[in-house]
Amino acid sequence: MSDGNRNGFVDLHCHSTASDGTLSPTDLVRLAKENGLSALALTDHDTAAGVGEAASAAGSCGIDFLPGIEISCEYPHPGTMHLLGYGIDPHSPVLHDLTARLIAGRDNRNPKIVARLNELGVAITMDEVEAQAGGNVIGRPHIAAVLVRKGYVSSIKHAFDKFLGTTGLAYFDKERLTSRQAIELVHRSGGLPVLAHPIQLRTGNDAELDRVVKDLVDLGLVGLEVIHSDHDVSMAERYARLAEKYDLLKTGGSDFHGANKKDISLGMANGRRVPRDWFDALRERLNSLSPPRGEGRGEG
Ligand code: AMP
Ligand code: ZN
Ligand code: FE
Ligand code: FE
Repeated sequence: MSDGNRNGFVDLHCHSTASDGTLSPTDLVRLAKENGLSALALTDHDTAAGVGEAASAAGSCGIDFLPGIEISCEYPHPGTMHLLGYGIDPHSPVLHDLTARLIAGRDNRNPKIVARLNELGVAITMDEVEAQAGGNVIGRPHIAAVLVRKGYVSSIKHAFDKFLGTTGLAYFDKERLTSRQAIELVHRSGGLPVLAHPIQLRTGNDAELDRVVKDLVDLGLVGLEVIHSDHDVSMAERYARLAEKYDLLKTGGSDFHGANKKDISLGMANGRRVPRDWFDALRERLNSLSPPRGEGRGEG
């Protein structure tokens, strides 16, 4: 790797067409290069199906890459808890079992949403949703896109507000893993578990957030997402202090979804960029676990 690559900025949280983003893994990596990033991690919901393609594209473009995944965990309403897993081995049998289980939870939920929409007089089908997804993991943003295309709502946001969000008319939850299970499975898949966008936990105060994070650390959490599109500067500072308190790696990313979240640009999180050092620290921790396994570990 050239020393020049160690400068600049990275994005450690984004979604491709393997889940609910709208760019292919290759196009996502090309955009990262165009936007001047020196490294990228792909973190699709519940699947690592895009990481092989992204790793090859990153090799061709000359940027560094880490495979990742984002897993939704059980957590009391109205909060949501998402766990990022960095450096997971895409060929690990544990990972295959994990993703099969998570996707089964979606396959069980998505037809319930469509059936409820039909009861409400909204004529869409699972076939249309599957065609919209065209990938491995079908999520609510795909249902939202069908609703927009067919004129039932004016935007993705409107689709969530009216139908798909937690207070929407056609909301159904999916089966989730506990945080204990998710953390353990990420470790067993060769990866590093990191708490995504802590703001979305909707903890009432600093003490409560501290307790939640401490419990996760006791379960094996190794990092905290400090920079994210939902975090303002003061939140990011708070999360950075919390990461330091518990000796956690700091991570950050935009949570880019392409056209499914139009206001987010790859490499930019609410006006902030993610420093290259954070990627290097993550990769060094991974390399300290076991010898690098080649392309998957992004030794670019
Ligand atoms: P799912 O994983 O299928 O439950 O859907 C979760 C996805 O929906 C994530 O990408 C979220 O960012 C997206 N999402 C959740 N709430 C909203 C919202 N209010 N507006 C737009 N996207 C949302
Ligand atoms: Zn998403
Ligand atoms: Fe998330
Ligand atoms: Fe995400």
